[in-house]
Amino acid sequence: MRFTVKTLLALTAFMTVKAQEATAYADGNTAATGAAATDKTAATTAATTANTANAATTGATANPPVTGGEILSCTVPNTIAWTFDDGPYQFTEQLLDTLKANNIKVTFFVNGNNWWGDLREDPAKLAVLKRACTEGHQIASHTWNHWTDPNIPGESIEPATIEEIKSTLDPLDDLIEQQCGFRPKYFRAPKGEIKPETVSFVNQLGYKLIKWDTDTNDWHTAWNTKTNQWSDVGPEQDPNVIDDPQRRVKEAEEFLTAEFNLKKPSYLILDHDVKEHTVKQIVPWLIENYQTLLPGYKFVTVAECLGDVPLSEVPGNNTVVVDKSVSNLNATNPNANADAKSSSLVSSEVSTFYVMAALLISTIFIIKGKCFSIFWRTYIFFLPKLVLKINEQFSDSFKLELELELELELELELELELELELELKSKFLIHYTI
Ligand SMILES: [Zn+2]
Repeated sequence: MRFTVKTLLALTAFMTVKAQEATAYADGNTAATGAAATDKTAATTAATTANTANAATTGATANPPVTGGEILSCTVPNTIAWTFDDGPYQFTEQLLDTLKANNIKVTFFVNGNNWWGDLREDPAKLAVLKRACTEGHQIASHTWNHWTDPNIPGESIEPATIEEIKSTLDPLDDLIEQQCGFRPKYFRAPKGEIKPETVSFVNQLGYKLIKWDTDTNDWHTAWNTKTNQWSDVGPEQDPNVIDDPQRRVKEAEEFLTAEFNLKKPSYLILDHDVKEHTVKQIVPWLIENYQTLLPGYKFVTVAECLGDVPLSEVPGNNTVVVDKSVSNLNATNPNANADAKSSSLVSSEVSTFYVMAALLISTIFIIKGKCFSIFWRTYIFFLPKLVLKINEQFSDSFKLELELELELELELELELELELELELKSKFLIHYTI
């Protein structure tokens, strides 16, 4: 078979195109892998940061460590974590006004689509959510739709599969991130009812599962006038049942007084900002009376009462602080860099392979065809230079690898510094709250 110069040129052109394609493919992969790594690392770093905060707290206090599973009570003594579920709703703004006037921070376990419908459809409703986090309250997840089946209004039914459960968490987290700049790390199941296998799933997703130890039952206002007892059904189902919020307010106040008289180490209170009597009566009563009933106790968020991150010393929400460190680390994400590095090496290796192959094939053709024209003599003259260039490319990749390793070390140092900072903040909180 005789090879002409034309054939050689065509082959060399083909190899050059392949080399370019390989580089482009590897670059595309770098971007894709980098993005995936960012997400993965965000989750990992969030978990690490949360664990770090816990470890720091555990080390700084004699309180029992916060473990996985369902958390019923606070661990930092003399704290009252006041929680409000199911909002935001039309009474939430008034609650925010009262809390602001009294410099009290609470935790809202919010829904994306509950009493107020889909929050995304009304900027005014979204503004209430944004105000709550801007004013330093903790925002936590209570699922997107309170696990309510549209076919069975009023019933909260836990989805059957893990995928369905996750699909009720993600849209709400997206919305909170959009309005508040962070994704919630604390979760409360609708009605507090959750299957054991879901508990571990939710923990695996990185949420702390929060329940309560002090239930005012503020939501429950159906009173049976015949049996003189709280009713399981509403006035619609039983003519003897009336809606009696005033009776509930009175009972809630008596209940809280009795509980506070016990001087428990801490209180994790359940209330609902969707209830008018809660916002207009129970809240003002508690604010007026807690200092007399519980002298020395302080209203804090759930994250604070668990000693995770002190809120009082930083503006905004404590979860923002956690997430800020996550995003800072992401900005120079070591894993993303490692992936970029490996993709870059793959890119240069594949390109080099094609160039080497082109050289080898061309040389064989030249020898076989014995076509030592001026063109080929020039070609052979430049061959050593080409080989040198390829070597240089390898050495550049090697240099890149070393630089990235150094960068990784710096990232680790940054992470250690953040851990130390969190530990100091936790220690500060313990001294401040005791
Ligand atoms: Zn609820």
